[in-house]
Amino acid sequence: MSCKMCEKQKNIKDDPYFIMELETGYVILGWFQRFKGYTVFNCKEHGPELHNLEHSFKIKHLEEMSIVAEAVSNIFKPDKMNYELLGNGCSHIHWHLYPRVKGDTPIVSSVYQLSNEELFDESTRPNEEQREEMKEKIKNEIVRLLSR
Ligand SMILES: [Zn+2]
Repeated sequence: MSCKMCEKQKNIKDDPYFIMELETGYVILGWFQRFKGYTVFNCKEHGPELHNLEHSFKIKHLEEMSIVAEAVSNIFKPDKMNYELLGNGCSHIHWHLYPRVKGDTPIVSSVYQLSNEELFDESTRPNEEQREEMKEKIKNEIVRLLSR
């Protein structure tokens, strides 16, 4: 069985978008920032469904996902966070954490009403300086929240 994400995670720390490792997953800045602050949280364990995870690991994973979302929310101050665990394309648990603001899409609904061209628009990719600044802010806020 081969899984793209399991393969990628072997060298995840070399990824320029990698932010930090938590106990149950890896925090990665979204490649495209059409939604400013978009962050991904990849589970360390392979599996398509939350209920496949061992109970205490699952609870910890959900808590850490919530902390990552809280950090993103504190920094980017959206009107609402979206927590998306989809996995239709890659059945390895990974969360798309989207900060949403009023009027950021034509219809008040999920980000996936936008075309791939718009979601993955190269002009929304942060440059190196922006990327490093966002990563640093998110990391610092996660560390702060974890130390409470
Ligand atoms: Zn996997």
